[in-house]
Amino acid sequence: MKKISIIIPAYNEEEALPYLFERLYKIMEENPKYEFEILFINDGSKDKTLELIKNQREKDTRISYVNFSRNFGKEIAMIAGLDYAKGDAVIFMDADLQDPPELIPELIKHWEEGYDDVYARRKSRAGETFFKKFTSKMYYKILQKMSRVEIQVDTGDFRLLDRRCVNALRKLRESQRNTKSMFSWIGYNKKEVLYDREARVAGKTKWNYKKLVDLAIDGITSFTTSPLRLSTYIAIPTFITLGAYFIYCIIKSFVVNEPIQAYQAIILLILFFSGIQILLFGIIGEYLGRIFNETKNRPLYLVDEYNGEKERNEI
Ligand code: UDP
Ligand code: MG
Repeated sequence: MKKISIIIPAYNEEEALPYLFERLYKIMEENPKYEFEILFINDGSKDKTLELIKNQREKDTRISYVNFSRNFGKEIAMIAGLDYAKGDAVIFMDADLQDPPELIPELIKHWEEGYDDVYARRKSRAGETFFKKFTSKMYYKILQKMSRVEIQVDTGDFRLLDRRCVNALRKLRESQRNTKSMFSWIGYNKKEVLYDREARVAGKTKWNYKKLVDLAIDGITSFTTSPLRLSTYIAIPTFITLGAYFIYCIIKSFVVNEPIQAYQAIILLILFFSGIQILLFGIIGEYLGRIFNETKNRPLYLVDEYNGEKERNEI
């Protein structure tokens, strides 16, 4: 029997979990041809999330869990899920039921047809503000322009991955993760499935705009180094202008014999160039920060326990 692991990162989801279990059980009952593993990554929840998961595991060993030593964020929870999942295929799902479990049979169907990465694309997004939808759309446009790798629009993390995609993703162990761009990067046979994104069933979103901007910047800098080239693009016209202006001043002072009245121009130029410099330093800092974080070479996450067993972090 083929095994399917459903990976669910969960952070303070006590309100959503009862609904989640109910709908997942229904799906598992309707698909007896597969062996399911439901792997929760408890990402340092401060509410009863872990307790609820543990209770469920006592009744049913198809439920597994990894408990992080603290909150590491969803991106890290996802790689931990890939590390611990045992399935021939894995499915990423949010705990808040924004990704409808009823779509799972369809994902599996396409996997059986031979696709490696069956991703769910949102037809609609309930419960999200116009501003969030708009910024997300613009972001993908810009990201796609900057990169050679094809990026899936309106696609979240809700998807099924074949074991070989899982193994490929497990090799990508950078610490500032943008899993969405990794899905694109690994390639393989992709298949799109459309769905309506629902509003979250209970509880509050953990996102805020700061997190979103962080993720967006990480997305760009992890995907491409083309912002580094920006310095070249800005520098070339800058030097041409500078050279032209310099020649103009020299000729003027010789031919017209008029001393250069340039203090205003100088102030403007100083402002202009220091502006460019700040911008470029910012970009360099961005990558320097990444190099700094990667060279530390720390483990991506620390596990407190896996299915009730304490992790001892042995070397
Ligand atoms: N999540 C997590 N760690 C975090 C924040 C969120 O594991 O630090 C989980 C959360 O429990 C949920 C999923 O990631 O299962 C998506 O989070 P959320 O619904 O808050 O994001 P949104 O759907 O609003 O983008
Ligand atoms: Mg959500």
